[in-house]
Amino acid sequence: MGEAERGEAAPRNRIPFWCANRHETRVAFASDADVPEHWDCPRCGLPAGQDERNPPAAPRTEPYKTHLAYVRERRSDADGDALLQEALTRLHQRRGA
Ligand SMILES: [Zn+2]
Repeated sequence: MGEAERGEAAPRNRIPFWCANRHETRVAFASDADVPEHWDCPRCGLPAGQDERNPPAAPRTEPYKTHLAYVRERRSDADGDALLQEALTRLHQRRGA
């Protein structure tokens, strides 16, 4: 027994993985390779597991960003400083300083 797969052109196992977004990814492993428990989904980057009904939960690695953080990311530091100066100047003007 166990000889049924002998002589196959490609002795590989195609292992399906599913991510939390229900993307199915089939990864070919050599028949003697260790199949990992998880595989990164190539479509969305979430970890995918072999249990279609119970895919691994999406890790919350994305830190919460404030609106200001997004603004700062888009602008150079110089722009940020200029904006800050502008805001301070306006604040002082409003105070009558
Ligand atoms: Zn996915």
